[in-house]
Amino acid sequence: MSAMNHIDIDPQTATAWVEAGVNVKDLDDVTCPQGLAAVNGSCTTVGVVGFTLGGGFGFLSRTKGLAVDNCLQMEIVTATGQRIVASSQEHRHLFWVLRGAGQVGYGVVTKLQVKLHTLQEQYVGGRFWYVPMSSTKLKELLHVMSEFCRSAEDEITFNIYLITQVPGVAVDYFYDGHPSEAEGKLLPFLRSITERFGPPGESSTAVNGPWEEQTTSYVEYQQRFGEEPVKTYKMWKSAFLGELTPEVIHIIISQLEEAQFLLTPHYRPRALGRRNQP
Ligand SMILES: Cc1cc2nc3c(=O)[nH]c(=O)nc-3n(C[C@H](O)[C@H](O)[C@H](O)COP(=O)(O)OP(=O)(O)OC[C@H]3O[C@@H](n4cnc5c(N)ncnc54)[C@H](O)[C@@H]3O)c2cc1C
Repeated sequence: MSAMNHIDIDPQTATAWVEAGVNVKDLDDVTCPQGLAAVNGSCTTVGVVGFTLGGGFGFLSRTKGLAVDNCLQMEIVTATGQRIVASSQEHRHLFWVLRGAGQVGYGVVTKLQVKLHTLQEQYVGGRFWYVPMSSTKLKELLHVMSEFCRSAEDEITFNIYLITQVPGVAVDYFYDGHPSEAEGKLLPFLRSITERFGPPGESSTAVNGPWEEQTTSYVEYQQRFGEEPVKTYKMWKSAFLGELTPEVIHIIISQLEEAQFLLTPHYRPRALGRRNQP
């Protein structure tokens, strides 16, 4: 598949055909310089087609939907060698099943067409760490974040990475709107976190200056950790939750010191449910 790495962008319709060997970084590298972006993952080695067939959420998903919501057509080769293009117009049922359950063997998706979105020049985004952090403080932090997220703007995305055994936490934050809007909607919350829990760890972006100066281009944010090492031998589990309830927080924290893997509770309420149509 890796030889099938062609990307064909149509700026007029803001769409792109992406072949099955293209990784998420390859796609951003081509679209972002044109001021456009697909709903995409940010770990460089992940395949765009595999990512999309599994649903696919990224930092644009709370405003623009999952990758499958932004997929317009898929070309698939079946076990009998038949080449089919499935979309909401043709082979509708196949298209429906591919969008989310496509990894289980309906055929080989050779390329797909995705919707592209216009990028603005700068965004507010970064990461803060508290490592180590006591279980009690972690629990408190999750409660504070859960409370804020209950009514948070769709433009705000957090990725919370709970680091087991140490334990500790890293939080990615991203505001999918103009940086001046983040001033009223996201930054007061980040400031309240540092007031309550103290200055975050050294590699946090806030340590290098005030939160409001942490602007970044979208592609810089996507690729901020550079190339993902292919062989890191780490186990990473996700849980898809409608809400980080006190019960869920209690279960997560009580398992944390024993668990062998990095845990990411994917908590992106509201927007994903509303934006489920292409
Ligand atoms: C470091 C890391 C970070 C991640 N971050 C995110 C994230 O932010 N958001 C998110 O949504 N997901 C994320 N993921 C999950 C990722 O989207 C899935 O693991 C995805 O399945 C990877 O697809 P792949 O093609 O790279 O992997 P593979 O292991 O090659 O494929 C995964 C599955 O998809 C099937 N598949 C792949 N390509 C095709 C094809 N062309 N036709 C038919 N079936 C195919 C394979 O058969 C396999 O069953 C992350 C994964 C990793 C490892």
